Amino acid sequence: MPKLSSKIDTLPDYSLAPEDVPLVGSLVLEDAERERLKSRIAESLQRQGMALVAHYYVDGDIQDLAEQTGGCVSDSLEMARFGRDHSAEQLVVAGVRFMGETAKILSPEKRIFMPTLEAECSLDLGCPPDAFAEFTAQHPDRTVVVYANTSAQVKALADWVVTSSCALDIVSSLKAKGEKILWAPDKHLGRYIQAQTQADMLLWSGACIVHEEFKSKALEDLRKVYPNAGVLVHPESPSSVIASADVVGSTKAIVDAAASMSNDTFIVATDRGIFHKLRQQNPSKTFIEAPTAGDGATCRSCAHCPWMAMNELRALDRVLSDAEYRNQCEIRVDPALGRRAQLPLDRMLAFQAR
Ligand code: SF4
Repeated sequence: MPKLSSKIDTLPDYSLAPEDVPLVGSLVLEDAERERLKSRIAESLQRQGMALVAHYYVDGDIQDLAEQTGGCVSDSLEMARFGRDHSAEQLVVAGVRFMGETAKILSPEKRIFMPTLEAECSLDLGCPPDAFAEFTAQHPDRTVVVYANTSAQVKALADWVVTSSCALDIVSSLKAKGEKILWAPDKHLGRYIQAQTQADMLLWSGACIVHEEFKSKALEDLRKVYPNAGVLVHPESPSSVIASADVVGSTKAIVDAAASMSNDTFIVATDRGIFHKLRQQNPSKTFIEAPTAGDGATCRSCAHCPWMAMNELRALDRVLSDAEYRNQCEIRVDPALGRRAQLPLDRMLAFQAR
């Protein structure tokens, strides 16, 4: 077996410190207020000809609104494709900022808004463009593959952008062509792909603060309580958690597996926002959150992304109804930078469309 590169131990650790992660409480609205906001939002979207594109991790009401108004709920790959292909001239992206930026890069002529631009991602924050540019410059012989969870500046430094839906296939195909890879930013996903493909990969050292919290020992204990449960794990989780999985895959792969597998119970290691779609599509099945408690747990170990949680009904209503706020929440990407960042994104979409 070839010796695989692993720069990871010598890179600075780009994981976010707990104190750098915002604490965001769940907004609990009275039913009447929720319904009022939902109908105002649906009416605003329709009147203004806007499409709502939502991620599986955001508030369930927002996911429902996206589907009811002709938008979409999906993973970041499908969100990007849907936003690009939709005829609406204005999109509202309910997710985190890199998703809004991706929509803008792929559709520079469209106006892209988000309920808040404060919705970040620890992977994006953990890959500063200047430091990453230095890293790529040190390894000109490597093909630069970056995860979609990165800024436009980082994408502009890449040869390929991938999501968790297509990363394995793209890296496998690069390896088959004899290419050596520089991978960023998620070290857990990078290690998983390296193990699956045996590709020569140098890994950046970022992590998702949600998936990194899943605990393998507690997961094994839970499995003893539910021996017939299927275990579905997102590959941003640590390798010890991935090792316990029946299915490892993107959010879309997890949704598909829950529908197709015959188990009546599932333990799911990804953001708990996905439980809305899982329960909606599989009302007779039981879904249990994979444990985040155990050694190393903190008060932030709750399997819910604090930035995704910023997408709440009141913010969505405000961006649709308050022109000044909407102006503050518009995604803007420098056109020249956007054109450079579009190349690796187009490459990914073309690869997927083959
Ligand atoms: S769940 Fe993790 S990868 Fe997804 S947006 Fe939040 S921090 Fe980023």
